[in-house]
Amino acid sequence: MTLHIAPVAPKTESARAFLATGPKRLLIDGEWILPASGRHFASIDPATGATLAMIGEGDAADVDAAVASARRAFTSDAWRGMTPTNRGRLLGKIADLIEAHADELSEIETLDQGKSLKTARFGEIPGAIAQFRYYAGFANKILGETIPTSIGYQPPGKKIFAYTTREPVGVVAAITPWNSPLLMASMKLAPALAAGCTVILKPAEDTSLTALRLGELMIEAGLPKGVVNIVTGYGRTVGAALAAHDGVDKIGFTGSTATGKALLGAAQGNLKRLTLELGGKSPAIVLADADLKLAVPGVARGIFANGGQVCVAGSRVYAHRSIYDALVEGLASEATKLKLGHGLAPDTDLGPLVSRRQADRVASYVEGGRADGAEIVAGGRQDGEFGTFFEPTIVTNTRPDMALMREEIFGPVVAVTPFDETDEVLALANDSRYGLAASLWTESLSSAHRMAAEIRAGTVWINCHSYFSPELPKGGHKESGWGYENGAQGLENYLETKTVCAVI
Ligand code: ADP
Repeated sequence: MTLHIAPVAPKTESARAFLATGPKRLLIDGEWILPASGRHFASIDPATGATLAMIGEGDAADVDAAVASARRAFTSDAWRGMTPTNRGRLLGKIADLIEAHADELSEIETLDQGKSLKTARFGEIPGAIAQFRYYAGFANKILGETIPTSIGYQPPGKKIFAYTTREPVGVVAAITPWNSPLLMASMKLAPALAAGCTVILKPAEDTSLTALRLGELMIEAGLPKGVVNIVTGYGRTVGAALAAHDGVDKIGFTGSTATGKALLGAAQGNLKRLTLELGGKSPAIVLADADLKLAVPGVARGIFANGGQVCVAGSRVYAHRSIYDALVEGLASEATKLKLGHGLAPDTDLGPLVSRRQADRVASYVEGGRADGAEIVAGGRQDGEFGTFFEPTIVTNTRPDMALMREEIFGPVVAVTPFDETDEVLALANDSRYGLAASLWTESLSSAHRMAAEIRAGTVWINCHSYFSPELPKGGHKESGWGYENGAQGLENYLETKTVCAVI
């Protein structure tokens, strides 16, 4: 049966007003301007195919203007001269404004990305607010050190006085993905601004709307002109121009491993600093003594939340043979309970995937697996008038060499594999070029911590999955990335160290 999705209008007046204001512009030097190309492209509601707004198609000329603006702002009195306390206060104001507009931003995010309103309103928009609040507190706690040295060749009678200062890295290009648009933008903007950097934000082409609304709110908060510029457009044009631009000092990127690798080459001209948060193929390991009342819904949420369009999605489940059947049955029951629909409909658990292209990709992994002998235990079907929905899907009888076991699907598809021994499951879990995250489900404290030490991943959750907070560092081992976001380490991404050594 094909899902028929009726359009749902946003409830908040301000969301309707934002969508109705005509073709969107770029934010450069504090002004909303038309793209140099004069062109726009449509941002689509993936549930209904309706055009939500026209987005400015930026290109290299706009990137030049945005970089020049960010460079000027970096040394401006308004920004460099702002006291650290006032910089923190400004971040706090941005948080307050996002909070005041949380209903509106959640509705815009849901319409643009497809996710359920619950996910936007109770997960991601609060997550964005938390980023600004957390890094607001860092702005006036960025400290250098005084360092006693053992240098002995200073002129007789003289001493050495040495210290470090921490300086903002400069002009930052923040290139963000389409899965959690406002949250991902905030994870870069908040620490970059706390450090005193200036930013050019390039949101993903499928989901630019909340970034543009955030731009308006940041201006309302009093952000000096040019400190944040927003250039919408395609990765191959705007993204590539930012990556190659000599006026950009640093790239903060979240996206696919393939694009992350392309950035390495593009960024080498001026040796840009790079933070790369890339793909994953995260295992969820359920031991024989797991509390299945906790594990079944937890593992299901770990893969199906946001339609599996989550970099840390637990897409490979390994279940001890003694509880394998119970787990598969439990996950299948969770999968069939989830209601597909328009993200804005109150009873929807899973909206459409972000685009037809993405749903087709997911379908091709499932079909490839089926052709190779995998068994589809639940779901498996692409759905909806526009082919943008995908049923929560459970696959068994896979082999480790299948594409669906090795590559990031970024959809609601999970493979469940039985195991017998701890060493065996650790080898299976680590048999991936990715190393983003993992979860362990067990009642045994020592098994949990012993295994956590053996897993090659940036985050290991125990009896939970996809638990995030700005305090918890987040990053990838292996081909899942370079560097860490969140926590004090997230701020380090945007700082340089200067050593001053004086003979006095
Ligand atoms: P996906 O393949 O899932 O869309 P991407 O890694 O391509 O993920 O996208 C993440 C972000 O990177 C988006 O904002 C996209 O526009 C941008 N992007 C894509 N290609 C490039 C590129 N060659 N250079 C810089 N940015 C890019």
